[in-house]
Amino acid sequence: MPKPKVYVTRIIPEPGLSILKECCDVEIHQSKEWPPSREELIEKVKDKDGLLCLLTDKIDAEVMDAAPNLKVISTYSVGFDHIDVEAATKRGIYVTHTPGVLTDAVAEFTVGLILAITRRILEADKIIRSGEWNKPWNPFFLTGPELKGKTIGLIGFGRIGIAVAKRLSSFDVKILYYDVTRRWDVESILGVEYTDIETILKESDIVSLHVPLLKSTYHLIGEKELKMMKKTAYLINTARGPVVDTEALVKALKEGWIAGAALDVFEQEPLPSGHPLTKLENVILTPHIASATIEARQRMAELAAKNLVAVLKGEMPPALVNKEVLNVRPLEKVKMI
Ligand code: NAD
Repeated sequence: MPKPKVYVTRIIPEPGLSILKECCDVEIHQSKEWPPSREELIEKVKDKDGLLCLLTDKIDAEVMDAAPNLKVISTYSVGFDHIDVEAATKRGIYVTHTPGVLTDAVAEFTVGLILAITRRILEADKIIRSGEWNKPWNPFFLTGPELKGKTIGLIGFGRIGIAVAKRLSSFDVKILYYDVTRRWDVESILGVEYTDIETILKESDIVSLHVPLLKSTYHLIGEKELKMMKKTAYLINTARGPVVDTEALVKALKEGWIAGAALDVFEQEPLPSGHPLTKLENVILTPHIASATIEARQRMAELAAKNLVAVLKGEMPPALVNKEVLNVRPLEKVKMI
């Protein structure tokens, strides 16, 4: 039996590529930095059985229709808002992702952002480098709020939200959370309190977002929500850019509705140079790197590859997004290895 043909839209870390190469005929877009163009992607998937993509690749019905043999789309990310999952399911295409393996990395980064924005760490670094540290120590210089005793609100309490709560609980803070699913099991262990979004916004000193991008979470935080927050509060977004209405956030930061924000994700990525957010002092901006530990990126590659290979072996992949596809095209019908 010929090996299944697989297209990988970027060079990904090992052991991902080796796992694929063991049993598939693999074609890799030869770049670590740039995705294939839309035209190239459509051309390359034409004869492929599997596609391993990144969150920068828009995988919609047009791409799927160009690939009549496609059986599996494995994304190197936990978020899958760049894939038209419904269209894939209809076509009997399995969609898989990489949950869990990047949870710790994102949670650690989120805590880092919280400390950096409240304790003004980047501002302080800039002051020294620009030669502005030209006065002796003084009690009012670069002060910020202490975390101890503060209220932290987590919106989205899945893998990453819970991992953030775990880490923050050692700071002696009060943790509120909201999720569409109440997590009774975790509440008593972590001492977190379930409440609604409005209470979180009104009572929290820090609001951190951990929801996926869905129709229901698009612009979840807009003008109305930002106005509910305390003037002294901070907003942290390591989820997805479109969860926050950027225009409203810029207004909120400029006009002092909130104290500041730390953002890892944006409505438009890369954030265009000269974007209004880059002109503001009370915001920290990082280029979508919350999962960027060496370990997490390797584990993501391994899981993405294993997901893809499992489907082509006719086995249940470790992290299937669209369980309904099992009824459309059972695993034995996609088995090639
Ligand atoms: P998860 O599925 O474990 O958790 C998401 C939680 O959000 C779930 O508990 C779900 O019930 C909840 N939710 C869904 N819709 C909601 C709504 N309308 N209101 C409130 N809660 C809602 O996912 P996760 O692994 O914790 O990841 C969360 C998201 O973080 C991912 O979808 C991804 O977009 C983002 N992410 C970003 C990075 C980064 O590099 N910045 C890295 C990893 C993940």
